[in-house]
Amino acid sequence: MTESKVRAIAVMTSGGDSPGMNAAVRAVVRMGLHRGLQVYAIHYGWQGAVEGGEYLKEMSWWSVGGILQRGGTMLGSARCQEFRTREGRRKAAANLFRLGVDGIVVIGGDGSLTGARILSEEWPELLREAAALGMIELSANEKPRLAVVGLPGSIDNDTYGTDMSIGADTALHRVVTAADQLASTASAHQRVFVMEVMGRHCGYLALAGGQAAGAHWVLIPEEELEPRWHQQMVASIERGRKAGRKHAIIMQAEGARHPDGLPLESTTVRDILTKQMGADTRVTVLGHVQRGGSPSAYDRVLSTRLGAAAVESLIEEGADVPPRMMGIVNNAVAATPLIEMVDKSQEVGKRIDAGDYQGALDLRGHSFQDQLRLLKLLTRSEPSVEATRGNLLIVTAGHDSPGMNPCLRVLARTALEQGFRVFGARYGFEGLLQEEIVPIGWMDVSGWASMGGSQLGAGRMLLQPHHAGEIAKILAAHDIRSLVIVGGMDAYEGLQVLHTFRDEEPALQIPMLAIPASINNNLPGTDFSIGADTALNNIVVDLDKIKDTASANKRAFVVEVMGYDCGYLALMAGLASGAEQIYLPEEGITLEKLVDDVRNLRKGFERGKLLSIIILSERASSTYDLDTIKRIMDEEGGDLFDVRSVDLGHTQLGGPPSPFDRILAARFASAAVQHLCQHEGDVFCRCMGLRGKQLRAVELSDAMAEIDWPYERPRQPWYMSLRELTRIL
Ligand code: ADP
Repeated sequence: MTESKVRAIAVMTSGGDSPGMNAAVRAVVRMGLHRGLQVYAIHYGWQGAVEGGEYLKEMSWWSVGGILQRGGTMLGSARCQEFRTREGRRKAAANLFRLGVDGIVVIGGDGSLTGARILSEEWPELLREAAALGMIELSANEKPRLAVVGLPGSIDNDTYGTDMSIGADTALHRVVTAADQLASTASAHQRVFVMEVMGRHCGYLALAGGQAAGAHWVLIPEEELEPRWHQQMVASIERGRKAGRKHAIIMQAEGARHPDGLPLESTTVRDILTKQMGADTRVTVLGHVQRGGSPSAYDRVLSTRLGAAAVESLIEEGADVPPRMMGIVNNAVAATPLIEMVDKSQEVGKRIDAGDYQGALDLRGHSFQDQLRLLKLLTRSEPSVEATRGNLLIVTAGHDSPGMNPCLRVLARTALEQGFRVFGARYGFEGLLQEEIVPIGWMDVSGWASMGGSQLGAGRMLLQPHHAGEIAKILAAHDIRSLVIVGGMDAYEGLQVLHTFRDEEPALQIPMLAIPASINNNLPGTDFSIGADTALNNIVVDLDKIKDTASANKRAFVVEVMGYDCGYLALMAGLASGAEQIYLPEEGITLEKLVDDVRNLRKGFERGKLLSIIILSERASSTYDLDTIKRIMDEEGGDLFDVRSVDLGHTQLGGPPSPFDRILAARFASAAVQHLCQHEGDVFCRCMGLRGKQLRAVELSDAMAEIDWPYERPRQPWYMSLRELTRIL
């Protein structure tokens, strides 16, 4: 282990609060203590640093217990005018210096992080001034430095240097849940809803929320509206009505503008719709609801990873490197100099103010622009082209998984828009063998964006070699020229069977693609599969409820979660809920480990702990199953604590898909259709995957070689790199 470049660190949350900040604070505190640092918390942001005294508190391991699931920030946040003055910063520097603080982690927006950068730059002089004024003692040859790491706390997701900022995914959950709820009441009355979401200079929440909820029009600050935009909007909503849409949702970012650059009020949009089409139009301004509540699983994991990385960076680099922000880029932690991060983040707003909308969109990057294009395509009420490309068959196979429906919706519409004729097989391979093939039209998938399960029906039948000939006949009879299968390992194996027989069966000499959809997240060629995020959120919500039952009785819960032979869900649920122990199939369970764990449980409860969560992946061990572990621990707990077991079962699969899964599904689907078009005429068998930022199709046979058989999980799973973190925290 390298010697630490800092000795005492402070952590604060500042500016606008965002859900997930607590998880970041917890990770900073515990990682810092684990690495032997002294850790202080600064309450109420820069205000607390300036005031000092009781606002600065030394933190212990347990001072951050039970906060992971709480919204807002336990440290409080504030905006501080005094810190903008040199005098204010001098006071803050003196207060921190007195405690020996030489490193700081600031969780906040670009304002708060700029404050940190300035403090670090001025640190030596501020301290010299403070010493001259008698506020602190500083020897003449001392060369004090302050190491700074920022973490992006913003629900707007407007921060350069990170794919997601802390709080954005939770805010998206609020937006999408609200839109789903509005959709059901709007349908009953054929209403149009204008939903205003946060984002003064950033259309992320409106765009991603609109995409995930299946909105029918979006208005974002980065897009220049055409002079007659309102007529286009009205015409589009009217076309939708004629085609059978029962309601419409306009998703508007608060920073949307008229073509002349003036702010566009949501009430103005409502008046336009009311006057021009006589629609019963209502406005819902979502407001601070978006900031509130318990953080999503994604935000908890993100914050934990970034918090831990911030401490590592302080320890390894200290003040040797300039102040930097830790972000997540391509599913890996990445550092960006604060100066660059602030500059680039603010540049978008400047471009919008200057009327350079294309510049603003360019800065948002490709995937933002792709999403905007896709959303516009999806809001059509019919394809704009004739079918010229031949028949495409879509199958959902294996277990159904949340997010399959949004995937089908986007597959069908993007394919129709590319000139395919689209068909679906009912009930997976089983239905396909019985020739249950139905045409899918544009409006057939209306409303599927928010539905769980698969409207086509998925079937668990495993395809065998002797089925290949029959399927070939059916494909030939329906003149199927491309095949897309959405599903888990059963689907992948089925597709492989078909591909193996392509030489014997000319009807199988077509492009075939698999799209990963499984809550287990065990599929090859991809870091994420559709459904895993929903399942994880379902688990985490249930674990929160279990935690809420903590009472005077000391109690441990052993909670079994799904995953087959893959520990992804268990590991991530453990990370997101602060579980004490996690039992994974990748590691197995030994008697020795159980003895150790029981000993640790006893220690914890003796120290005053009231509740403990132990997560068991369903196939971690065939010997030590849920009941056995429960009984062993209960026996050993004696009078000190008792043990309950919970099998979360099928609730993990249910409910509407999470925003992350809906967006992932849409991205896979649209990339799959694009791939089919780009490789028209080729014969292949590939699977879609998201590795880092790259959305790509790889040869199925190559991808399957990544799998550890018979366990049906990746040989080198990326998530196991987080295992150490769960042990430390
Ligand atoms: P956010 O961090 O969410 O962007 P603000 O822009 O309101 O929120 O900044 C939060 C606090 O950070 C401010 O109240 C102030 O104390 C400090 N701060 C912001 N900008 C600066 C600056 N240029 N110099 C010093 N402190 C700043």
